[in-house]
Amino acid sequence: MIDYIVVGSGLAGVTFLETALQNGKKVILFDDGKPPASQVAAGLYNPVILKRYSAVWNAAQQLAYLEIFYGLIQAKLQQTFNHRKPMLRKFFSVEEQNNWFLAADQPSLSSFLSTQLRWDRYNGIDASFGYGEVKSTGFLDIIPLLTSYKAYLKEIDALRSESFDYSVLKIHNDHLFYKDIKAKHIVFTEGFGMLQNPFFCHLPLQGTKGEVLLIRAPELNLDVIVNTNVFILPIGNELFKVGATYNWADKTTEPTAFAREELISKVKEILNCDFEVIDQVAGIRPTVIDRKPLLGTHQQYNNIHVLNGLGSRGVMLAPMMAKNLYEHIEFGLPLPSEVDIKRFEKAVL
Ligand SMILES: Cc1cc2nc3c(=O)[nH]c(=O)nc-3n(C[C@H](O)[C@H](O)[C@H](O)COP(=O)(O)OP(=O)(O)OC[C@H]3O[C@@H](n4cnc5c(N)ncnc54)[C@H](O)[C@@H]3O)c2cc1C
Repeated sequence: MIDYIVVGSGLAGVTFLETALQNGKKVILFDDGKPPASQVAAGLYNPVILKRYSAVWNAAQQLAYLEIFYGLIQAKLQQTFNHRKPMLRKFFSVEEQNNWFLAADQPSLSSFLSTQLRWDRYNGIDASFGYGEVKSTGFLDIIPLLTSYKAYLKEIDALRSESFDYSVLKIHNDHLFYKDIKAKHIVFTEGFGMLQNPFFCHLPLQGTKGEVLLIRAPELNLDVIVNTNVFILPIGNELFKVGATYNWADKTTEPTAFAREELISKVKEILNCDFEVIDQVAGIRPTVIDRKPLLGTHQQYNNIHVLNGLGSRGVMLAPMMAKNLYEHIEFGLPLPSEVDIKRFEKAVL
């Protein structure tokens, strides 16, 4: 008998599976081969919601654990995925500078927003009002991480390349059967696909479509992340990721001309050099109405669990959420009430 079946091979699935493996558990991951939202994500992490100048929930704790967790994966796979990189907010006016200083005065933000204005000069950007620096930012190279991690799972015979069929699962009090697999627990990590899951489809997952462009800008010598109402992330070889859009109505994963135009026009507000669009990708973020993750155990079955709702912050949230859920299952530790699916139980009844 194995310990865990994990369904879904995005960031949520891989981080939970890795957490279980680090604790000596036997696991199997189901990968349906469909591109996860994790694959189109730019991979940024940033402790501040710059649009509203508020701190991300539990930001300091998540950042500290992110370093440890991705560090262990890097050591295991002998590759670097986590790249610390400064993120600069470009100001367009004195008023924006003032708003920055007001925000930096707030106790919840003071450790993340630098009060020293930066006056970096980059070819291709006119920043006459300077920049504010967000501390503790960077990006995770998600595609190589998922690819290498799945190759590793294949080596240890812990990967099933197939879609999980919910109707085949047989549930008993202290174990489960799925085809030839007998397991103690199953953890569902299907991202937006959770809405097809009969055990958890009642949870209020909204889904927010996002699109990202890949641009080439040979004159732009930017080596930091610039963030205004879009981000520009340098990834080398004159290439930059630009994003992201938010669309609550469209639930398809096709790139759209509308999003492309929106991103191009926002980039033009920042760049005064030429650029060309090389690629465009789209995906659905697993967002929840209260913007918090969905963690917990099924009301009726104590061996069926969910880790979802990572929204637009999977990179920062996934390691800590995986740890919280693992410790809840194995040691009965309570989940933080903000993320426990019990907060929606009334809606279920
Ligand atoms: C455009 C865009 C930009 C983003 N940028 C960032 C960013 O910069 N930083 C950040 O932190 N986050 C970002 N995100 C959000 C991030 O992508 C998500 O938070 C994260 O990827 C969610 O991971 P997940 O594993 O829950 O879901 P997913 O990555 O969607 O993975 C779920 C997987 O489960 C599979 N699945 C579903 N049903 C089944 C089944 N029955 N059997 C087997 N497999 C199944 C799905 O096909 C999918 O492959 C972005 C998202 C988008 C769309």
